[in-house]
Amino acid sequence: MADKQWHQRAAALQPDGRAFIGGERVWASSGQRFDNHSPIDARLLGQVARCDAADVDAAVAAARAAFEDRRWAGQAPAARKRILIKFADLIVQHTEELALLETLDMGKPIQYSLSVDLPSVANCIRWYGEAIDKVYDEIAPTAEHSLALITREPVGVVAAIVPWNYPLIITGWKIAPALAAGNSVVLKPSEKSPLSALRLAELALQAGIPPGVFNVVPGYGNEAGAALALHMDVDCIGFTGSTRVGKQILQMAGQSNLKRAWAELGGKSANIVCADCPDLDKAVEAAIGAIYFNQGESCNAPSRLFVEESIKEAFLEKALALVPRFAPGDPLDEATVMGAIVDATQMNSVMGYIDQGKRAGARLLAGGAAARVDSGGYYIAPTLFDQVDSGMTIAREEIFGPVLSVLGFTDLKEAVRQANATPYGLQAGLWTADLSKAVQTARALRAGTVHVNQYDSDDITVPFGGYKQSGNGRDKSLHAFDKYTELKTTWIQIG
Ligand code: NAD
Repeated sequence: MADKQWHQRAAALQPDGRAFIGGERVWASSGQRFDNHSPIDARLLGQVARCDAADVDAAVAAARAAFEDRRWAGQAPAARKRILIKFADLIVQHTEELALLETLDMGKPIQYSLSVDLPSVANCIRWYGEAIDKVYDEIAPTAEHSLALITREPVGVVAAIVPWNYPLIITGWKIAPALAAGNSVVLKPSEKSPLSALRLAELALQAGIPPGVFNVVPGYGNEAGAALALHMDVDCIGFTGSTRVGKQILQMAGQSNLKRAWAELGGKSANIVCADCPDLDKAVEAAIGAIYFNQGESCNAPSRLFVEESIKEAFLEKALALVPRFAPGDPLDEATVMGAIVDATQMNSVMGYIDQGKRAGARLLAGGAAARVDSGGYYIAPTLFDQVDSGMTIAREEIFGPVLSVLGFTDLKEAVRQANATPYGLQAGLWTADLSKAVQTARALRAGTVHVNQYDSDDITVPFGGYKQSGNGRDKSLHAFDKYTELKTTWIQIG
């Protein structure tokens, strides 16, 4: 589609910001709304329901009623499968509409909303739909006079609280396994990107997911989010967001009904390039592509790049030649590869880190400034610091923006020690042609995922999650069912 048409469609759009509770679109019972602006140019997209504890009560009650009468949980897995596949098909049919909402709401380039986010969420929902009638329960090898059945049951009402960086993809990671397993769900999207999830709920209903099974309550974290985390009738919470809020979620779960609490949190991933890297060009492409993709707003972005000193100069020369490719552009232009930062708060936070890097004495080799300032939106030039020290704030804290810190090393063991010297443990990368070195180092890196000689592999079949303060549990793959099911043992006496 021509770029002009994206602009025309954007101008004609009137997004529906009402909540989705019990199968219906409703405003918050208080009547409260908040303005939703696009980071592309700060235009007002519309108003969104500001749900609070009363709306959360209504959504949880709808979800509970749906769970108790088994309108969804009681359907055969094969029936849930058919509906989830239809849901995925509807997402595919509405790709352009959903992609436009995603891009307008959080600023990512339309080409990636179309080619990455939408196919990914549709595939996720299809995959868990396909999986659910292929998952068997167990019989334990007990004595002859007894039968011990080990079965999985849905936990009940699942709350999902998600961030703004991949609004649909992360929503999919939560709702697909939860719904496939037979749970009812109440989703709270980020206040910065609520629109696509609200539309998704309408498509779920259209696909045949019964009313009350999938509800969406937009609103602020300390209002709708906290009300969900504290709710006495929510059985499980699947959270993705910052480590700071993740800690609060776990506290709220303990403070209320000890709901199962799963947290996918922040990261400060290290990418280590050894001098025997088998393909330096590929390593450069991967390092640069992965830090600047999605404006650097990726939990697993390899924001700390450790390069062996003997190849650092050559590496940086190649890297700096690539950086201009990521100059921010109009997100509605299909050629754009880097879009807008999600809002002014995030923009100021990233710019603050850039200033800290400069003040601390890191060598700024690219970017370091705002871009497209005349647009009215929020853009930052892809930024690269060399001569970063592990003690600097830019090397320690999650920036969540297009900022790469390069650190040199001469001793791999010391690089691994520094890579692990962080509260986070989401992902890590390693480039070497030496197989033994690769395996030993991958074992030593304290991260949920280690990439060797690539950084961008991703598949719904593979678990995603972190060590340490990057969270607990795993999204994606069959392991995600562990989060949204209870394991029941039934002992049966025989004879
Ligand atoms: P955030 O923690 O500020 O917000 C996440 C969600 O929690 C939002 O919906 C927000 O409204 C809600 N929230 C905020 N305060 C709350 C409270 N007191 N009670 C309940 N809910 C509350 O995070 P963000 O800025 O939206 O997202 C960026 C963060 O998410 C980064 O740290 C990033 O690394 C992380 N992230 C992690 C993963 C992963 O899989 N590990 C994936 C994507 C993003």
